[in-house]
Amino acid sequence: MSKACKNCRLIVETETTCPLCQGTEFTERFNSTAQIFDPAKSEIAARLGVKAPGRYAIKIKEK
Ligand SMILES: [Zn+2]
Repeated sequence: MSKACKNCRLIVETETTCPLCQGTEFTERFNSTAQIFDPAKSEIAARLGVKAPGRYAIKIKEK
């Protein structure tokens, strides 16, 4: 099952450590995801503060 890194929102499948920020806290409670190919040209990447290509959770539920 996919899960999102709570720190940088990267979507991972089986990793226990985020390959991007080395975070170890994940949540399965997120809404939609976005595939970002070129962060420099992506408005979504700018809005999320994303700097590396990948698939990210747009919105993580707090509760
Ligand atoms: Zn992360």
